[in-house]
Amino acid sequence: MKAAVYKGNQRLSVEEVPTPSAGAGQVVVKVKYCAICGTDVHAFLYDIAPAGTVMGHEYCGTIAEVGRDVTKWKEGDRVVGGGGNPPPGVLTGVRVHPRFNYRTMGFPENGRLRAYAEYVLMEEWEPVPIPEGVSDEAAALCEPCAVTVHAVRLSDLKLGDAVVVLGAGPIGLLCMQTARAAGATKVIVSEPAPARAEAARRLGADVVLDPTHGNIEERVTELTDGVGPQVVFECAAAPPTLDQALNLAARGGQVVLVAIAWEPTPVLPPDWMAREVRLQASFGTLPEDWKTSLELISAGKVDMAPLLSESNFLPLDDIQNAFEALVKPSTQLQMVVTP
Ligand SMILES: [Zn+2]
Repeated sequence: MKAAVYKGNQRLSVEEVPTPSAGAGQVVVKVKYCAICGTDVHAFLYDIAPAGTVMGHEYCGTIAEVGRDVTKWKEGDRVVGGGGNPPPGVLTGVRVHPRFNYRTMGFPENGRLRAYAEYVLMEEWEPVPIPEGVSDEAAALCEPCAVTVHAVRLSDLKLGDAVVVLGAGPIGLLCMQTARAAGATKVIVSEPAPARAEAARRLGADVVLDPTHGNIEERVTELTDGVGPQVVFECAAAPPTLDQALNLAARGGQVVLVAIAWEPTPVLPPDWMAREVRLQASFGTLPEDWKTSLELISAGKVDMAPLLSESNFLPLDDIQNAFEALVKPSTQLQMVVTP
């Protein structure tokens, strides 16, 4: 099969690798769509992924082969590539290591071939079924949506709160919708790129601000009756946005850190510490977040359409170009690989 193998030094090479076959308790998934995650772009940009890695964790497809003793699936079943409940005792280091450090200990699945490829090998329990009425395109974005479900569930957001979402890339556009579904009645989005700002508007943001024009703190304070938002979701990871998020939050409010900045990020505490603002980091997903994500998509509370236009889909062979485009200050919406 064809797979995009990371070679190191910002090179992805599409080459023939052995097609996986399902052992006992395993399935092989034929990949239909695999969305390009910002995490993968960072792994490429900072050369973090070990050579030989096949990345890609936001995907959907169909069961192509069922191993011995597998009872849950049959060939042709539509699945999301993740979100299943692990059997007791099976937990990744991300969740159990007492001193887990994503920068130095990330990519725990060294050598595992993932979904920038035609097929992926999975344990029977790993995928989840795509509900009737959820398109394959939307299902491919189940994981990033689940990331925002996780962040919103970790937050102290309450019905009637005002929230600010910094950044309207795929995660910001999903986060504004999950925050709304969780009860935020005023959703303010900050985004400089016009196409992304427009998508935020289409998805029902009450106000979309351009942080490169005017004083965003003044504007947000005005829009929240002089108080500031109860929760700020930091989905941008630009150099100034963490400090900006802390500055925006209301007294006793909360900043939820969703996007990962891979470079030192300056903050100036005296500006906001007297308001006793709290910082909550959010990382990855739990199985229940995927379930909620699919339910929200199914119920129409999360709309993927504005994130995906035809020009956002690309063949596996073009993946190097796509990554090169995405490491530049990006105005793209979601890019999706079709192996
Ligand atoms: Zn992701």
